[in-house]
Amino acid sequence: MSTEPLLSIRDLSVQYPIRNGEVRAVRGVDLDIYKGEVLGLVGESGCGKSTLGKAILRMPPGVITEGSIQFGGSDLARLSEEEMRKIRGSRIGMVFQDPMTSLNPIQSIVDHLTETIRTHQPDTSKSQAREIAETLVDRLGIRASRIDDYPHQFSGGMRQRIMIALALALNADLVIADEPTTALDVIVEAQFLDLLRVLKEEFNLTIILITHNIGVVAEIADRVAVMYGGTIVEVAPVLELFGSTKHPYTRGLLQSVPSIERGGRDLYRMEGSPPSLLDMPPGCSFNPRCPEAMPVCSETEPRLLPIEGDAGHLAACFLYHRAREGRVST
Ligand code: SF4
Repeated sequence: MSTEPLLSIRDLSVQYPIRNGEVRAVRGVDLDIYKGEVLGLVGESGCGKSTLGKAILRMPPGVITEGSIQFGGSDLARLSEEEMRKIRGSRIGMVFQDPMTSLNPIQSIVDHLTETIRTHQPDTSKSQAREIAETLVDRLGIRASRIDDYPHQFSGGMRQRIMIALALALNADLVIADEPTTALDVIVEAQFLDLLRVLKEEFNLTIILITHNIGVVAEIADRVAVMYGGTIVEVAPVLELFGSTKHPYTRGLLQSVPSIERGGRDLYRMEGSPPSLLDMPPGCSFNPRCPEAMPVCSETEPRLLPIEGDAGHLAACFLYHRAREGRVST
């Protein structure tokens, strides 16, 4: 894994316009993604993780209102739509939970692949593009003889492989996978994660894996970023996060996962639900649910800061930082 970030997000805020105003779905996010790593982005539904993933590619409906996304010498937050079109697919690929929303049902797989290759590399002939497509699908465990089939003729797991093939066809530097295994059964999910692991090694792929499934993250991620209330509350290497959890929200998430050691007993249930992005509580957004909340927690919002003595481990929590290191709520 490189020490230079491939993608560097600073103070990023994203809003959704609604009839009576705006919803701040992502608030002041700082995050670095390094070449060759799998970064797991986790949190409950509505915490902003998918909005953050889409914001990197400037996909609607969210609108970036503040901050920067440095990638390959450009700030993606400020590029024109035409410049962004060249980055989507060719430099950064996206894999969605339901690949049918991205695949055209009346186009064969070979047409998807050759069209993508030739749009971004116009000098590639049709036969060369077909050859590249056949090699790729074969590498991803799909027989090349099926390349003329249509999306509906493949299973969910195979369609996810085709989405990865589309990203690899262009040598994308970064793949953002948004809940890619949620619709898969456990066996197909395990096969897909194995494939991602192999591709990561073989192609030195960098992957942002967005998921609510902590088990998936434990399987494949190098580092984990935990989101809550539209912001990152903890970041750490995966073993460090599981072995030395800092933020009370992350602790609750981990305790909510059934464990073989506990024999499925004593399953922890986190009280309450994530805050409404239309009506955020003052101070730390987790304070109404936090078993360790202190008076300062409802007055000031903690910033994401390094934990002393734990390299690469950051948390946004007053249990580890002094109150003056926060932002006074407005
Ligand atoms: Fe809990 Fe306070 Fe830490 Fe927020 S800042 S997680 S409320 S202890």
